[in-house]
Amino acid sequence: MENYWKIVVDSYTGYWNYLVSEIAYPGWHNYFWWLVGLSLVVWLLEIIVPWRKGQSSFRKDFWLDAFYMFFNFFLFSLIAYNTISNVAVNLFNDFLAAFGMQNPVAIEVQSWPAWAKLLTMFVIADFIQWNIHRLLHRVPWMWEFHKVHHSVEEMGFAAHLRFHWMETILYKSIQYIPLAMIGFGLQDFFIIHIIAVAIGHLNHSNLYVTYGPLKYLLNNPAMHIWHHAKTLPNTYGVNYGISLSVWDYLFRTAYIPKNGRDEKLGFDGVEQFPKTFLQQTIYPFKK
Ligand SMILES: [Zn+2]
Ligand SMILES: [Zn+2]
Repeated sequence: MENYWKIVVDSYTGYWNYLVSEIAYPGWHNYFWWLVGLSLVVWLLEIIVPWRKGQSSFRKDFWLDAFYMFFNFFLFSLIAYNTISNVAVNLFNDFLAAFGMQNPVAIEVQSWPAWAKLLTMFVIADFIQWNIHRLLHRVPWMWEFHKVHHSVEEMGFAAHLRFHWMETILYKSIQYIPLAMIGFGLQDFFIIHIIAVAIGHLNHSNLYVTYGPLKYLLNNPAMHIWHHAKTLPNTYGVNYGISLSVWDYLFRTAYIPKNGRDEKLGFDGVEQFPKTFLQQTIYPFKK
């Protein structure tokens, strides 16, 4: 027990020091400045070559989503996630140790070349996320949390990170165990995470990007806008892809009936959905 308390305290102080040094020392291995840089690049493109020409550069909910971006990416980690995940990793290792297991590595991935390791991890993680995203749409209580992301009515890059912090917990905890069992370490996540942020920003951007024939592999704005469409061909939604679109084509959940540039976004009753960060955070718990 004392051991876990120490983990909690160390996680907080460790993360705080990390956060301060991230902001103070820009560099290539730095989440904070990568997020700022990628956001500026996509925002600039939205201003120069917008898909919906009439949309303001400071679109509806621009500042709300900017806040979500920093909250979900940094502050939530600071407040809770870093601690929760450190405790979870220890619980998981203690649990394994109780059965006399030390290293649950199923495949010797650490000996693979870096590119093969990263590519495999990227594809597996994305497939797990695609499944979690489907769950968010099918399980009623999960949908109440996921509605925050679907309350976006005008798309722009920052809408990517408008989601309830419960999603971070669901995605990371479900994802962590299978990835750890294959032998991927947390330190392997950096590049993959940056690539996923870039693709995710583009998916939500006011840019018309389709990647040509690569659209069957990579998710894109022309496809993801239909995931946010208010009127859907079924109850549970379409185009669940996160970074890759290939799962939607394989499992027949892909849907692009026409150019979705001016499609109405949201869900039934989105007009009555809470409008502020605090209200949106409390909303699913009241439900
Ligand atoms: Zn969704
Ligand atoms: Zn989205």
